[in-house]
Amino acid sequence: MKDPYEVLGLHRDADIETIKKRFRELSKKFHPDKNPTSQELYKEMVVAYRTIISEKLIAPSNREALFSSSALTIPSQRIIYNLSLTNILQEGFKVSRDFSTEDYLNHFQADITVQMYRIELIMGYTIPLMIPSRQICPVCGGRSEHCYRCHGKGYISQTLTWSIILPPHTRPGEIVEINLAPLKERYPHIQIRRQFLRIRCHILDMPEP
Ligand SMILES: [Zn+2]
Repeated sequence: MKDPYEVLGLHRDADIETIKKRFRELSKKFHPDKNPTSQELYKEMVVAYRTIISEKLIAPSNREALFSSSALTIPSQRIIYNLSLTNILQEGFKVSRDFSTEDYLNHFQADITVQMYRIELIMGYTIPLMIPSRQICPVCGGRSEHCYRCHGKGYISQTLTWSIILPPHTRPGEIVEINLAPLKERYPHIQIRRQFLRIRCHILDMPEP
């Protein structure tokens, strides 16, 4: 593993505010939404940042628990898909005539609510998202009424798992927009009409792990 201080270009004795500021500056430049070629670099930066922050903020005895089996990933039972998203997904990302996508988003604000501990927000945990999707039936190409795979529907529904890194220092209640363009690029054959998903983090009112 590379020296995390070197990755972020920081002095070893940098204080928390300096580290945060540096990370924000670098994120602005290298976040994959702004610069798709820098995805790997951004991941490396987040890992370096988590390492430094955990060294500075967390007692060594707790550090191990935090970094252990979960690999800094939020468990799926803490990820809640809101009604608006469920509706939109069921419709293959089409919304009914009476509602525009905008209406849905304004009304419900966030598509996904994630319950997180404060320290997880600070560190920027990974959130594995389940994205229901629809694709043209690979067996009949959507052309057979008697297809055994799609039963004549012409398409099949499936769920994709797509992990995103929540930017470190997301504030509780803040809405984070997730750009779906990289997902569309990776799976060009699936139908996703939306350009963004909105995630909101809710603080767990329980002792930190
Ligand atoms: Zn078929």
